[in-house]
Amino acid sequence: MDMMKKAYSARYFEILEKRKNLPVWVHKEEFLQTLKENQIVLLVGETGSGKTTQIPQFVLEAVLNENPSSGPKGKKWLVGCTQPRRVAAMSVSRRVAEEMDVEIGEEVGYTVRFEDCSSSKTVLKYLTDGMLLREAMADPLLGRYKVIVLDEAHERTLATDLLLGLLKQTLISRPDLKLVVMSATLEADKFHKYFIGVPLIKVPGRLHPVEILYTREPERDYLEAAISTVIQIHMSEPPGDVLVFLTGEEEIEDACRKIVSKLGDQVKVVPLYSTLPPAMQQKIFDPTPQTVRKIIVSTNIAETSLTIDGIVYVVDPGFSKQKLYHPDTRVESLLVSPISQASADQRAGRAGRTQPGKCFRLYTQKSFNELEKQSYAEILRSNLANTVLTLKRLGVKNLFPLDPQMAKMLIVSPQFNCSNEILSISAMLSVPNCFIRPRGEAQKAADEAKSSFAHIDGDHLTLLNVFHAFLQNNQDSDWCYEKFINYRAMKSAVSVREQLVRIMSRFQIKLCSPGFNSRDYYVNIRKALLAGYFMQVAHLERTGHYLTFRDKDDQVVHLHPSNCLDHKPEWVVYNEYVFTSRNFIRTVTHIRGEWLVDVAPHYYKLANFPNSEAKRVLQKHYKKRKLSEERSCKLYLLR
Ligand code: ADP
Ligand code: MG
Repeated sequence: MDMMKKAYSARYFEILEKRKNLPVWVHKEEFLQTLKENQIVLLVGETGSGKTTQIPQFVLEAVLNENPSSGPKGKKWLVGCTQPRRVAAMSVSRRVAEEMDVEIGEEVGYTVRFEDCSSSKTVLKYLTDGMLLREAMADPLLGRYKVIVLDEAHERTLATDLLLGLLKQTLISRPDLKLVVMSATLEADKFHKYFIGVPLIKVPGRLHPVEILYTREPERDYLEAAISTVIQIHMSEPPGDVLVFLTGEEEIEDACRKIVSKLGDQVKVVPLYSTLPPAMQQKIFDPTPQTVRKIIVSTNIAETSLTIDGIVYVVDPGFSKQKLYHPDTRVESLLVSPISQASADQRAGRAGRTQPGKCFRLYTQKSFNELEKQSYAEILRSNLANTVLTLKRLGVKNLFPLDPQMAKMLIVSPQFNCSNEILSISAMLSVPNCFIRPRGEAQKAADEAKSSFAHIDGDHLTLLNVFHAFLQNNQDSDWCYEKFINYRAMKSAVSVREQLVRIMSRFQIKLCSPGFNSRDYYVNIRKALLAGYFMQVAHLERTGHYLTFRDKDDQVVHLHPSNCLDHKPEWVVYNEYVFTSRNFIRTVTHIRGEWLVDVAPHYYKLANFPNSEAKRVLQKHYKKRKLSEERSCKLYLLR
């Protein structure tokens, strides 16, 4: 590309030859011509055909050709490409930077939540769909962008769906803006219906046949079944890499360990999930020697977002973590659920990219037939409270990048004289779990280390203790290792906190602390927590279990075993609700019933609540408060 005056490296030409073999290259001219003549272009292509890595580069080339004089210095524009997953945005942008022979963060960059790796030089930016939505809030016309590529539209994430709606409007006010919508083959027809009359380019894939094998009986434990299938493949099948689909970090790490302990050096086992450190993410692409079989154990990310070459065998237990929303309880949860037939076929397809392959489905043919044809779009499975706020804010500058509950907690925290502490807790709640709990021998040591941070009044305060200790120990990674604390999570908490501080000062929200020796230090913090999360409380019933307390419906819940409380308090506020084998509330802190009456009297107007012990307790608190108000009123009159 002309704008980069340096001579290209040998590696550049080496990769270029490979790139030219990707199916989208056959359609390069057709695509560029269509983009020139139209404001919107739809592009549908099999996963792995080169959509994500190549099309944005084609677009960039076109933009540069039309604006020959605008070098990186004088430019005031960007090409943006959205990804539903942050890992994909990071990994793909790195790959594209390498393909273009530039440093990541310069001409090619990425922006994901809480991490911006782009600069004034950036002309091609990969970003999560959530980030673009956020940018649209600050600038509804997305003035910096010349072309926006919405990738993985078939995933139908909430943010992509909102962007599709929003951009349809924006394009009318900005005739100079162009939109490319890219999708894998599944669900493509829906987009064509949504954008009537828009040209559609189809990139046929080069898929080799994939043999599909089902189990005869349903598997009782899909994790064990997946592991033994991998071992069986390794023992009895010809060379070729293996891709295993599991549902989450813990399961994946567990499986990786077990496979390594069985097969040792004969294989190279690589995990892939969203919270994996970037350096590890790149490992999935490292080539292995012919004699070593690569085994990738991944979440859904590898279903369509990332394409790894050389996969010949796919192991599909048939599950993924999916967001579900229960409108009655207003609870949104991540639940391990059966995938759809479309997903299962997509997964199988990953085995036939380079040569004929095999897909081992760890379920029966009958169960496959019973699966939903396609997954429901996220918008049909979500709590729309945030979305509604998002939409309300579109066009309004300076939005808070936070949940309403957290935002409320931060805003009111100065009233409780503890905004510094609430900032730290918010930061800790925004990053992955900081406690590492290995299986096996080290588990006891890990639990002991954790208990040294435990605060008897609750997990939020425990998180605050960890955060303070991390700072006191100079953010030392060895210290983290010793204490079984996730160093990366802590570093991101520090950076999230810095960002939150900036936002607070923009809104002129005071930063203050109660003073550590103050008697009310923890009480104030707990009150501020409750002021934000007042809709997420549970009451201990006489039967010994907790009931969530809401105006429509209550649910029996259990304290998650990870909690730090040394007793079962009458009232708790919780951060999340998790469905696993039982209904758990996780990250819980002890609060007092009378505080509910103080911080959220508008919500706790009890008339609407179903009859329950909790309601009777709160009614007493209201009565008490009324009495004491009357008493002080009398005293005042007597004076
Ligand atoms: P699509 O978006 O159509 O699914 P991609 O553009 O993601 O296709 O992938 C095209 C090719 O680029 C694939 O062969 C893939 O293996 C390769 N590729 C993508 N990212 C990397 C990477 N980080 N390292 C090496 N190869 C990569
Ligand atoms: Mg892609």
